[in-house]
Amino acid sequence: MTDLATDPAVVVVGAGPAGLRAAEALTRGGVRPILIDEAERPGGQIYRQPPPGAARSPRTLYGFEARKAVAIHVIPARLGDAIDYRPQTLVWNVFGQHLDTIGPSGHHRLGFNRLVIASGAMDRVLPFPGWTLPGVFTLGGAQIALKAQGVSIGRRVALVGAGPLLPLVAYQYAKAGAEIAAVLDVTPFSAKLRNAPGLLAQTGTLAKGLWYVARNLLSDLVVCSGVRAIGVMGQDRVRGLWWHDAADKEHRVACDAVGASFGLRSETQLADLAGCGFAYDDITRQWLPQRDATGRSSVPGVYLAGDGAGIGGADVAELQGERAALAVLEDLGAPIDTARVAALDRKLARQGRFRNALERAYPYPAHLLNDVDNAEIICRCEGITAGTLRAAATERDAQEMNRLKAFTRIGMGRCQGRVCGPAAAEILARTLGKNIAAVGRLRGNPPVKPIPVGGLP
Ligand SMILES: Cc1cc2nc3c(=O)[nH]c(=O)nc-3n(C[C@H](O)[C@H](O)[C@H](O)COP(=O)(O)OP(=O)(O)OC[C@H]3O[C@@H](n4cnc5c(N)ncnc54)[C@H](O)[C@@H]3O)c2cc1C
Repeated sequence: MTDLATDPAVVVVGAGPAGLRAAEALTRGGVRPILIDEAERPGGQIYRQPPPGAARSPRTLYGFEARKAVAIHVIPARLGDAIDYRPQTLVWNVFGQHLDTIGPSGHHRLGFNRLVIASGAMDRVLPFPGWTLPGVFTLGGAQIALKAQGVSIGRRVALVGAGPLLPLVAYQYAKAGAEIAAVLDVTPFSAKLRNAPGLLAQTGTLAKGLWYVARNLLSDLVVCSGVRAIGVMGQDRVRGLWWHDAADKEHRVACDAVGASFGLRSETQLADLAGCGFAYDDITRQWLPQRDATGRSSVPGVYLAGDGAGIGGADVAELQGERAALAVLEDLGAPIDTARVAALDRKLARQGRFRNALERAYPYPAHLLNDVDNAEIICRCEGITAGTLRAAATERDAQEMNRLKAFTRIGMGRCQGRVCGPAAAEILARTLGKNIAAVGRLRGNPPVKPIPVGGLP
């Protein structure tokens, strides 16, 4: 095997399916990468592991995906000294050819020769009446509670969403014995029907999705599609949920917890700080860092893999991780297996057709923002309301997101705009009567997540 010792190192950020497959492929090419992840254990979001010692089988935790999960989890142990694995380490800044990290041994500045960013995704949140009440979680948060801790978010739970995570979490909660008050899909059934032919590009994945939907229907759950508006009832905590169905008829259920999110959004801050070019994606209504089919970004030496540069799902993330590693090796002058490259490219193209149909089947539910009240909190970190955002647009001429931030502090709180940014952009665009792309996006700033300042380099 070639020994491609690089100084500084090749660094992979993210030990989810994308980052782990990237690290593995790099070792096969003779590189010893540094693999960094803020989580304690490898696996990323889908294959998130419970704390050490928790005694639940992979089959219980991951269902159909148990074998894949185990295959992903064992990668760091299997590679041993061939990688430098640094768990519990957050990359909070990218600056030129350097990363700033904080981990068990404190703050470090780390140079890199090549950087693979595989930072994954998070839930997409939209404000609705009562969304800040105790007892409201994201769907991903609800799933993490179950996967990592083995607990439900409440005794009687309502689930709301716009994407394949909704039927999956409903199924997982029902299987775990939770009482489910309602499962509300805010996307129209007609969108799924229209895009059914595209979904046939991955029959296996489609079959799994339909199986969850069918199980939910057979379990007598209250399932409603095409929901037009939702709101949480309760003053001090969640007491119930109301919604308007496709015919605008109001319904109410009692519950003590709500899981709600509206698709996924890529974690793009590191790519932003690395200087990668971004483009607006009309289908998902998100700004995404640009990458080519090999994973190369617009910045030489920086590569993007997995959900962090556009949602593709775990199988795509694995393929993209390996593909980006092969691009790194090629750029380092190492010989690469061209037959493997061709096979990866073919698989990725097929997955791309499926993903495109899936995004169209679950369109971003911008209609939920139609009647946001001026008093509604949009940024919960800073307590900023929709009315404050609208006033900055009309009275102070904030024409784009960074002016809006300067006038209102939106995006300056703990989440750095990762939660409130998409909703704020929709409200600004509507107030100005502009296309959403025209109001731009919040610029990334370090630290990407809160860090202790003691010991900063
Ligand atoms: C909450 C949630 C739940 C999901 N549940 C499912 C599911 O049940 N089934 C399903 O099919 N798909 C699910 N998905 C989608 C699925 O997780 C992804 O498609 C898949 O995990 C993508 O793999 P990835 O490697 O690109 O990213 P991820 O698996 O998200 O891995 C990214 C890794 O990067 C690390 N990271 C990110 N930023 C930094 C940083 N700055 N410093 C250090 N480390 C960092 C994270 O800790 C994480 O381990 C879920 C997604 C989310 C967000």
